Amino acid sequence: MDDIYYMKLALSLAAEAAKEGEIPVGAVIVRNSDGFVAGKGRNTREKSRSALGHAEISAVSEACSVLGGWRLEGCTMYVTLEPCPMCAGAVMNSRMDRIVFGAHDARMGACGSVSDIFSLGFGSTTEICGGVMEDECSALLKDFFGGMRKRSRAVRLTEIKTADQIKRAAALSGLSAESIEAEIALGRRCCFIRKKKRLLGYVSSEKGIIVNKLIPQPSDRAACEDIEELILREAEP
Ligand SMILES: [Zn+2]
Repeated sequence: MDDIYYMKLALSLAAEAAKEGEIPVGAVIVRNSDGFVAGKGRNTREKSRSALGHAEISAVSEACSVLGGWRLEGCTMYVTLEPCPMCAGAVMNSRMDRIVFGAHDARMGACGSVSDIFSLGFGSTTEICGGVMEDECSALLKDFFGGMRKRSRAVRLTEIKTADQIKRAAALSGLSAESIEAEIALGRRCCFIRKKKRLLGYVSSEKGIIVNKLIPQPSDRAACEDIEELILREAEP
């Protein structure tokens, strides 16, 4: 198996994710016997608005449907970032032979960095190989977060109060004016997310916790990634 070739494929999927404002992680699943790529995935957490939107989960799901069964024995997963517990669990459940990952993840890595769930006695035989093209994989993540921090510094919140602002917020977010009024009546803090004079989206929160966040342009999502932090900070007494 040409680990570098397939890791490059996973990297190109990660780069696609970054273009859509998603944290750049990409994954492919390859059948060992003939090198057939049975599944591909990239992070879609923002777009799909789902905690399950990890690259590995999409790749496992695609490979199972392409290969016609839940068992992925005889396959290898190539992923640019060390899998988290959820994704490592999906690999374990699919009985995959091998995981090859790029960058280590000191925060969520479940293949050795924080913990190694494959050695916890679940009877897994999956082989792990980490650090393949690690520099390229981490550089992509570092560039993404670096750019995001730069962009998010320019993002501000403006509270929505007047009828005119409610109308504009409704047009921007796709919510009805009535539902925005209802949020305000409930005591939620309803705001425009703006960058200088441009409105990027709408966000409502209660005691520092986001209730609704709508950013119509995918290209603006990376700029709004740190909005949770901003809202928490502004909610502090
Ligand atoms: Zn994951």
